[in-house]
Amino acid sequence: MSELTSLAAHPAGSPPKAVHMISDPESGLEGVIVLHSTRRGPAAGGCRFWHYPDIRAATRDAFRLAEGMAYKNAMADLPLGGGKAVLRLPSKPFDRSRLFEAFGREVARLGGSYVTAEDVGTSVADMEDVRSHTDHVAGLSARSGRPGGDPSPWTALGVFLSMEEAVRRKFGSDLRGMTVAVQGLGHVGSHLCRLLDRAGARLVVADMRRDVAEAVAQECHASVVSPDAVLGADCDVFAPCALGAVIDAQSVVRLRARVVCGAANNVLATDADGDRLAERGVLYAPDYVVNSGGIVNVAGEYLGWTQVEVERRVKETGQRLSAVFDLADERKLPPHRAADARARELIGLPPGRVKAA
Ligand code: NAD
Repeated sequence: MSELTSLAAHPAGSPPKAVHMISDPESGLEGVIVLHSTRRGPAAGGCRFWHYPDIRAATRDAFRLAEGMAYKNAMADLPLGGGKAVLRLPSKPFDRSRLFEAFGREVARLGGSYVTAEDVGTSVADMEDVRSHTDHVAGLSARSGRPGGDPSPWTALGVFLSMEEAVRRKFGSDLRGMTVAVQGLGHVGSHLCRLLDRAGARLVVADMRRDVAEAVAQECHASVVSPDAVLGADCDVFAPCALGAVIDAQSVVRLRARVVCGAANNVLATDADGDRLAERGVLYAPDYVVNSGGIVNVAGEYLGWTQVEVERRVKETGQRLSAVFDLADERKLPPHRAADARARELIGLPPGRVKAA
């Protein structure tokens, strides 16, 4: 424990409140639950089930992700802290239901200080298995009039409203006639394209799956470019909706957009890349502020809100981004640093070097 806790001293982050190593050799479960903060409420954040070479690598990722969730939840004004579970994908054959039931028992042992949900590598079915041992889980199938199910349409709505705000700030206009390049047309990107098409934006789209790109292009009156070309496409807005770390020291010089606003987590490879965007006059809408619609839906499911309440809160995403831009102007900071500073204040962390979601 002491060696793993020392990982929290990594300069990218602040120390977590608690680290729970979890292991159940019978089911193949091995991983960690990190509670970054519980000051605003239970530490909430999904369960990642992925290939990690060892538990140390999984723990390092969990520290980073738990801190990111604390920032995202605080900036979405949710009564939740930040946490994350990271489980190693077993190298030997395993019974998936048994593994997630064992994980559910571990979540139950934390007595509600951690709330889990889906993340990379986990599904609604996995969360149903977790549910057989604990109530502290969301991301289950939606019941009528209640939040639940696929959070992506909510994420897309929050990104769309944020883009409207960013474009208004940068160009003094709405999205009609703006050219938006969307990278990644999966769950969020495809919904976003529909909203943008309806708003009268011109679309340039790319996906690794060419057939998916063609289908979205046909439905949304878009032109398709290759995945390599989308970042440098001639456009007003670049919307990263695929991978993280797309803006780095090399890619930033290829960017022709004046606004970057998309769903992907960790858009900036480093904080310095956010500074580079600002120096080049590109307005960056911080990822964890604009892509919080999904977690608002998940929170609503856990906290028992109505769908109407979730919608009301997601519709505030543009205003929350506007407040970040105002703070950035006031403190003479680039938006990503203003967002981090505000998130740290909300969580009760001292100002300092931070790593976003
Ligand atoms: P997804 O897996 O459904 O879609 C990702 C798409 O990106 C896929 O169609 C894939 O083929 C494509 N892609 C991958 N690499 C690409 C590349 N180099 N160029 C072009 N296309 C590429 O994922 P999603 O749920 O739509 O999420 C998209 C991003 O938003 C992810 O970074 C995710 O972490 C983030 N996010 C999603 C949600 C949500 O509610 N789903 C919430 C917050 C953040």
